[in-house]
Amino acid sequence: MKRTNTFAVRPLTDDDEQVLRDLLDASAALWNEINYQRLMRYNDEDGFEGEDVWDADTGALEGKYKDVLGASTAQTVRRANTEAWRSFFRLKKKFHDESNTSVTDHPEPPGFRGNEDDGRILKGVVRKDAYSVEWGDRSRLEMVVGKELRDRHNSPKSRLRLEIVGDPNWPNYEDQGRLELWYDESDSTFRASQPVTVTDARHTPLADETAALDIGANNLVACTTTTGEQYLYEGRQLFQRFRETTREIARLQSKLREGRYSSKRIRRLYRKRTRRRDHAQEALCRDLIERLYAEGVDTLYIGGLTDVLETHWSVKTNAKTHNFWAFKQFTERLVCTAEEYGISVEVRSEAWTSQECPQCGGIDRTTRHQDTLTCPCGFEGHADLTASDTFLRRHQNSPSSDWRTRRKASRQRHTEKAVRPMARPVSSEIADFRDAENAQRFPARFEWDDHNWSELPRSHRPKEQRTDPSTVHRDGNVASGKSLTG
Ligand SMILES: [Zn+2]
Repeated sequence: MKRTNTFAVRPLTDDDEQVLRDLLDASAALWNEINYQRLMRYNDEDGFEGEDVWDADTGALEGKYKDVLGASTAQTVRRANTEAWRSFFRLKKKFHDESNTSVTDHPEPPGFRGNEDDGRILKGVVRKDAYSVEWGDRSRLEMVVGKELRDRHNSPKSRLRLEIVGDPNWPNYEDQGRLELWYDESDSTFRASQPVTVTDARHTPLADETAALDIGANNLVACTTTTGEQYLYEGRQLFQRFRETTREIARLQSKLREGRYSSKRIRRLYRKRTRRRDHAQEALCRDLIERLYAEGVDTLYIGGLTDVLETHWSVKTNAKTHNFWAFKQFTERLVCTAEEYGISVEVRSEAWTSQECPQCGGIDRTTRHQDTLTCPCGFEGHADLTASDTFLRRHQNSPSSDWRTRRKASRQRHTEKAVRPMARPVSSEIADFRDAENAQRFPARFEWDDHNWSELPRSHRPKEQRTDPSTVHRDGNVASGKSLTG
């Protein structure tokens, strides 16, 4: 498995810091010179072959920097730029292929490290065999630097040694890849990312519980576990901002001169939109999987896209925009994160479970309005949570009686912990089961605040309702959009 260690590094002396700064600055300078040569040769808006970019004399540029960077690093900067261009051409090809919906944003050629106004961005790469990392109480990174740079800062050693701050996610690996190093202006820290190949998953599951989740747009994830937990990750605000940005992009595009289809501002908006989405999704995967791991889940079923296509994007947007949440990428990310925890994932297409009534099993008669699923039989519940619950019961490895026994055992195990979060019942069956144990459960709900998925306070059901079963399901609709986001 390919994984990445990301960590902060600290130079040990002022001289070392200067060496590091100059090294990253020279790397960025070489990147920019190579990129400029290639960009000049890339002057087409129509075709997407761009063969000319490979004509740039990058070897000469590499030679110019090798005394400062070291030959291996200079070569690595050139290769990194080459890969960036190759990947750009690949994306562009996919973007222009109508049958391929995996690329939704118009790809841009590789950018420069910095600009004239703000100066260069301190960023560089180190070839996999030109650095070494030692993990331990005093973890450190050593890497090759060019002679000219060493002389400049009176640093006689051929390798620059940096202190590593913190512990790696993946301390045991078989192989390492090209190191990236950069200066993070936001907190004045040098950081590095080290791609590694690992064999063992970091964790093994704590028990053999199962979870099922439903992926959508309004609620990015609704999840139910066999331990009776339910989690709901709100997508509304993110979704709304995504749409606002998309509209703004469309507005700007409509104002472009004929023959042009992009501008600096449009590209910036695309980037912003993508970054925001990726950040939220990555954090969601981590948050959810860690919770599932703690619950003892070893198998996760992923279904979904239930409310996406029909509800919101069916009109007037092009096919690519249907992929606005990049669900494929999101699912892959979930699978990857789950893998780290030894949780196996099975992806199923389950669009229809969202319509099934958990109380009477009817599919044709149920109605979904916003977040609520209602059935003439009297059932009313949160649609996505219900879907994940139905989905879970359908894919139980063991028959449902077994599952209940297991859940009971599992809950007894869990009650030994001081405080247990509670999930609200979503089906009469489960409600009865829980009532029998006199346990009130509530789903955990999470909202994105641009940095974290924070858990919203769990609402507690008023006491008198507890004894009146007729209110259970209506009340079960705890996460209806109106009450949450106004
Ligand atoms: Zn029903």
